[in-house]
Amino acid sequence: MKSVAIIGAGIAGLTAAFYLKRKGIPVTVYEASGRVGGVIQSLRQDGWLAEFGPNTLLETSPKIGQLVRDAGLQSRRLDPEPKAEARYVVRYQRPFAMPGSPLGFFTTKLFTAGAKLAVLREPFVAPRRDGVEESIAQFVVRRLNQEFLDQAIDALVAGIYAGDPHQLSLTHAFPKLKALEDNYGSLIKGQIFGARDRKKSGEVAKDRAPKFSFDEGLQVLPDMLAAQLGDAVKLDTEVTKLKQTADGWRVATSNGEWEHSAVIYCGTAFKLAEMKVMCGRAALPHSSEIEAAQQHRPTGDKELEPLDLSRFSEIRYPPVASVVLGFRREDVAHPCEGFGMLMPKIEGFKILGTIFSSSLFPNRAPAGHLTLTSYIGGERYPELARLPAEKLVALTCEDLRVLLGVAGKPAFQHCVLYPKAIPQYNVGYGRYRELMNEIENQAAGLFFAGHYRDGVSLGDTIVSGCNIVERVEKFLTTK
Ligand SMILES: Cc1cc2nc3c(=O)[nH]c(=O)nc-3n(C[C@H](O)[C@H](O)[C@H](O)COP(=O)(O)OP(=O)(O)OC[C@H]3O[C@@H](n4cnc5c(N)ncnc54)[C@H](O)[C@@H]3O)c2cc1C
Repeated sequence: MKSVAIIGAGIAGLTAAFYLKRKGIPVTVYEASGRVGGVIQSLRQDGWLAEFGPNTLLETSPKIGQLVRDAGLQSRRLDPEPKAEARYVVRYQRPFAMPGSPLGFFTTKLFTAGAKLAVLREPFVAPRRDGVEESIAQFVVRRLNQEFLDQAIDALVAGIYAGDPHQLSLTHAFPKLKALEDNYGSLIKGQIFGARDRKKSGEVAKDRAPKFSFDEGLQVLPDMLAAQLGDAVKLDTEVTKLKQTADGWRVATSNGEWEHSAVIYCGTAFKLAEMKVMCGRAALPHSSEIEAAQQHRPTGDKELEPLDLSRFSEIRYPPVASVVLGFRREDVAHPCEGFGMLMPKIEGFKILGTIFSSSLFPNRAPAGHLTLTSYIGGERYPELARLPAEKLVALTCEDLRVLLGVAGKPAFQHCVLYPKAIPQYNVGYGRYRELMNEIENQAAGLFFAGHYRDGVSLGDTIVSGCNIVERVEKFLTTK
């Protein structure tokens, strides 16, 4: 019976394993740590519910809702409070509600007349067609203006990637924005005329996609998938080496070795760089050799040569500390009704942003209290993320005091450091994606999926896990 090894029990690996198993294909999920979920981490304690990794799942594709239904979790799905729609951006040292309509944009005090004029001018800015890869910062300044970059995009980029807009690639980190310019010549025109195309494909723009979680936090999803996979999930089992054989792959782990017909790598890029992979052809392929190599399988160890995966260690994953604080309602002056607030660097605060967690989902805090989840570090201040917990709490409380009028000590506090949090799809990221394509072509039966390949959002990684199943199934049936 053909079986598949899945490396990594984050959401991408578990999604792939869950659907392969449903198709009757035997799977084993190898997970280096002692728990499932990867960066997803929810903690229930004394009436509080803290999310340290992702807080919400955006339903940008029909595959996401389908997974929830297939996993039997529809009744545990939690949609946010309708009044929690507002998003704030900090300017002039206080949070401003982001305008939700064209009229709101032209009347808001968040942007100056210069920025409003830039929006009116945008449809007339000629699209760039010379094929040069831009950073998101270059793109925004070219199509809009510096104020948009400094006051809005810088904050957004901190909120999504904990990244640097001058480094992040438009093509790889914001492919939908690039497609708007490529297909419609303008962001504004693309917003208006692209709605029909998006409807046809079933995709939903990130700013309009419904977001949700579960009654006991996002951890519910990986836990449920793992429960349905049962013994197929092997915890505390790090995969250290892959060796191609005549029939498939020998997977060497910290707990023993197993044979599989195919392998899906759903770990992190920096761990991939450490893995030893021996396969049937020498040094990394050149495009001309790919076709010849495709069906090549080694017949003995002598034919095996190591793949050089060290380049994946170049992908930057800055550290991020999640600081979850609970306060008595009366100790917070701001109503905190909304999704949360984003922080442009230019405003001089230490936190990258704050999610109003219990405004989104009231069961995140005991009655009469609220939970605020803030992030520190990223590319902006990597050194701050590694501060001890009491310093992180003190820095966060100071920023929240100025911005939200938070007084008094937190009634709940918990910090978690992600030493390598989110991969930065910086300018030039295409070379890593090409490398993955080349390796897949060369090393038949080895596949890549997850946040370092198909987009960093939770939704992207679920779709990545779904899509890889189709490719692996096709490979197994033609093998
Ligand atoms: C702080 C933070 C906040 C975020 N907030 C949001 C949000 O609000 N919304 C959103 O959409 N997205 C958010 N994201 C992003 C999103 O959560 C992740 O991109 C996604 O969960 C990654 O899933 P994954 O399965 O690809 O990888 P991971 O979750 O990183 O899982 C990879 C797993 O592979 C294992 N592994 C690695 N190497 C090996 C090996 N050799 N052998 C065995 N196991 C191995 C690891 O131990 C890990 O468990 C956030 C991320 C972080 C860090």
